[in-house]
Amino acid sequence: MGAVETTALTGLEPRSFWAHFEALTRIPRPSRQEEPVIEHVRAWAAEHGFELHQDAGRNLVLRVPATSGRESAPTVSLQGHLDMVCERDPSSPNDPAEGRIVLVRDGDWLKADGTTLGADDGVAIAAMMALAEDESLPHGPLELLMTVAEEVGLEGANAFDGSLVEGRILVNLDSEEDGKLTVGCAGSTDTWIRIEAPREAPGAGAATLAVTVSGGLGGHSGMNIEYGRSNAVKVLGRALREAHATVPFRLVSLDGGKSRNAIPRDATAVVSVGADREAELRAAIETAAATIRDAFSKTDAGVDVTVDSAETAAEPWTEAATTTLLDAVALVPTGPLALSPDFDDLVETSTSLGEAITESDRLTLHSLSRSSNDAALPEVIGALDAAARLAGGELEVKYNYGGWRPNLQSPALATLRASYERLFGEEPIVTAVHAGLETAVIGDKVPGLDMISFGPQIEAPHSPDERVSIPTVERFWRLLVAFVDELSKPVKEA
Ligand SMILES: [Zn+2]
Repeated sequence: MGAVETTALTGLEPRSFWAHFEALTRIPRPSRQEEPVIEHVRAWAAEHGFELHQDAGRNLVLRVPATSGRESAPTVSLQGHLDMVCERDPSSPNDPAEGRIVLVRDGDWLKADGTTLGADDGVAIAAMMALAEDESLPHGPLELLMTVAEEVGLEGANAFDGSLVEGRILVNLDSEEDGKLTVGCAGSTDTWIRIEAPREAPGAGAATLAVTVSGGLGGHSGMNIEYGRSNAVKVLGRALREAHATVPFRLVSLDGGKSRNAIPRDATAVVSVGADREAELRAAIETAAATIRDAFSKTDAGVDVTVDSAETAAEPWTEAATTTLLDAVALVPTGPLALSPDFDDLVETSTSLGEAITESDRLTLHSLSRSSNDAALPEVIGALDAAARLAGGELEVKYNYGGWRPNLQSPALATLRASYERLFGEEPIVTAVHAGLETAVIGDKVPGLDMISFGPQIEAPHSPDERVSIPTVERFWRLLVAFVDELSKPVKEA
């Protein structure tokens, strides 16, 4: 290990941590292209004589022996991801994907010049390496779990070989809020309602209109689901269905949303209407739109529905099919469904209609449902299945991974909480997130793991504004060192 060279890191403690962190900034590690950083870790493990395993998903598991006197302590797994999001300002000469990150010190913050910093999750890898090689820091047997491709849908964790894990306690080091201990997250299941419905030539002289919803805030379909924001596909379905009650028209297509992970901000339907009813339909949609704007006036005031003339070569669905398809969109639930019994203001179960896709005669409605309580999800999937069946369609279900259900009686949590209070003289915030973390995926493969997650303060991850708070890195380090020490102390006789 070389000395710290960048002046941005001069004088920062702990020195070995920052030296490892700096080394990582010089190694390309985009998701799915982690070979250079894997080689870096492999060489380091060989130098220190640590046993290293790599699974078929390319994830690494390293075994670090206990320090003297702690050999009989339980194995503790430390976990973080090797890859980083490689974003840059277009004008920047630097590029993380090529191992060019230039560190910049800005008061108490460390950032990169024009690029992502890779503190997400370089802090975890640097901390594991600094801890493992320092023989003066007491710990029991450690297992270092370094996953790949976290930033592309937890791909590495999904391919992780759980049989390599010997530890019963897993410490994830990929949290981004100082002062918080995370003890739970949501699992997720994707569903697709597919409805095949007949089409029929439009009536003579029919007009074609495009009805568009836009202007909503969107956001993360888990973390932001509780804010009452509009879902463009649902808004579009509602405006059309309300108008359809008084003015007959036929649906040609309905499309919206870009990702299962985001609340849709845009959606468009093409409809066919008798030329003599066109003005009436425009008025009916505007009436519906006014009520919708009112409904979202406090939570998503920008959402709007507009109608434009359009052209299409496609035949519309039949009148009966149009009714069925609009009913199906109305039936698909979206939004928070239950609150956490453990934490205030945290959603336990939610579902989000993420995409509507028209392909030939078929309409597909793709949802992502989440819960930290696995036993709650079947009811949500049941509702989606019922909507599909009532519409004469079919439901495809893809289970991703189970939730990480908070266990406030966790022994690891009690130990970590005590270490935190002793070190910092205050209570940590114990919380959970309504999103997926690698812990949920790994926990699903290794039942009975006692898991916890913490990290330093990292802001604007995944963007060139990413920065890490230097004093919180020191707090993070001290907490990690104290925690592995505490977990490995010989049990005192009563
Ligand atoms: Zn991360």
